[in-house]
Amino acid sequence: KQTIKEILEDYKKVLHHDITVYGWVRTFRANRFIALNDGSTINNLQIVVDFENFDEEIISKISTAASLKIVGEVVESQGAGQAVEILAKKIIILGDNFTEERDKTILQPKKHSLETLREQAHLRFRTNLFGAVFRVRHAVSFAIHSFFNQNQFFYINTPVITGADAEGAGEMFGVTNFDLDNIPRDEKGKIDFAQDFFGKKTNLTVSGQLEGETAAMGLGRIYTFGPTFRAENSNTTRHLAEFWMIEPEVAFNNLDDNIDLAEDFLKYVIQYVLDNCKDDLDFLDKRFEEEQKSKPEKERAKEGLIEKLENVVSKRFKRVSYTEAIEILLNSKENKKGKFAYPVENWGTDLQSEHERYLVEKHFESPVVLFDYPKEIKAFYMKLNEDGKTVAAMDVLFPGIGEIIGGSEREARLDVLKQKMADMHVDEHELWWYLDTRKFGSVPHAGFGLGLERLVLFVTGMTNIRDVIPFPRTPKNAEF
Ligand code: ATP
Ligand code: MG
Ligand code: MG
Ligand code: MG
Repeated sequence: KQTIKEILEDYKKVLHHDITVYGWVRTFRANRFIALNDGSTINNLQIVVDFENFDEEIISKISTAASLKIVGEVVESQGAGQAVEILAKKIIILGDNFTEERDKTILQPKKHSLETLREQAHLRFRTNLFGAVFRVRHAVSFAIHSFFNQNQFFYINTPVITGADAEGAGEMFGVTNFDLDNIPRDEKGKIDFAQDFFGKKTNLTVSGQLEGETAAMGLGRIYTFGPTFRAENSNTTRHLAEFWMIEPEVAFNNLDDNIDLAEDFLKYVIQYVLDNCKDDLDFLDKRFEEEQKSKPEKERAKEGLIEKLENVVSKRFKRVSYTEAIEILLNSKENKKGKFAYPVENWGTDLQSEHERYLVEKHFESPVVLFDYPKEIKAFYMKLNEDGKTVAAMDVLFPGIGEIIGGSEREARLDVLKQKMADMHVDEHELWWYLDTRKFGSVPHAGFGLGLERLVLFVTGMTNIRDVIPFPRTPKNAEF
């Protein structure tokens, strides 16, 4: 079987031959022209139907969304827009298509809002927009594996159910096999996790980093790429409760190596999409341009989608310390005029996405890597710098997104790490296995986390993270 993509890309091989094609009807014009799509490409295959050669019953069943198998001859196309078309000789209707019900769904051929499409996430794969988005998402995932494989990283899998809750229990989803109507309790009335499946309290992973570090301490260069869960109660366009995170971890790397790796990695993946997703990107680029037109002049993007991607891969990212960034923000007109929802008051505050986007979009007009953050606002495992106040953390900030990557050089010294854990109330006993990595041949090492969906948002020009994952999980939303 050949996909429509293969047929269109290599049509000379099949020209003047009879072939069989499969797909769904996008449109049926003038009882004569079917635009057939099978998902392999954004391009439709035109089928020409001489209705006098077919049963009326068959013709009556050809309409938007119908599923067809067609045998016909490949001929040069008379019309503009496609090189070849198929002269139908045999048409088989593959399955039911209840048109009355169809017209109550997003499959009804008219323009639907993204919100409506989201409510029918199971059907939106049939649209041009979501076809393009999910093919690009695939290309991004493939390029990620390809980058790491070329650079001698090993893909490892860290557990989805974890026994540690080191990153902050507040945003974790618990895992249990208790009968929730009858939870065992101890004498004090507390839930008795000793009786639970694993004999202790367990959670869905919020990051594979700590386990990933232990793997890097034997395999050298590793990366994880798996589902990640955070009970984010913030309802933003950049947070999901379930997302896919990529976490490389490299033995013997310091913070600068880590920033270099992050920059090379992002550029490789974006270049891969530019080189391999041309038709989908052209479609998304046009859509992006249309969308800009409907915005007030001030809010319009300065560059087109493809132009934006080309600019990101061609220039070096700006590297700026947290301290410099705070100076810039404190002195900005925006801050002085109270334009930020969260005003920047002093060194030490955590940056909000509005501040990150100001630095990227207004001040530097470039992707920015911020480094050396105050230790209080970053996790316990980050390397303490000589100033005793900052840690070797780095965040990569992208236009339209804010934080796309967060990473650090890890604290490799056992005594310093233990002190930081004590200061930040992280239980040493629970992480005994993690501390072991600092006892037997500890080495400098560094890594970062990238949220797949944030990168897909960036390369597709979409604006809501719910529209770049097939079935989004957000507060009060797990319909599918
Ligand atoms: P943010 O500040 O945006 O909440 P974070 O600092 O909490 O992100 P990290 O713990 O550093 O995130 O995770 C690494 C990366 O994972 C982030 O840079 C981002 O790309 C992605 N990420 C984090 N939380 C989410 C989420 N809820 N949904 C989608 N992606 C996420
Ligand atoms: Mg967060
Ligand atoms: Mg952050
Ligand atoms: Mg972060």
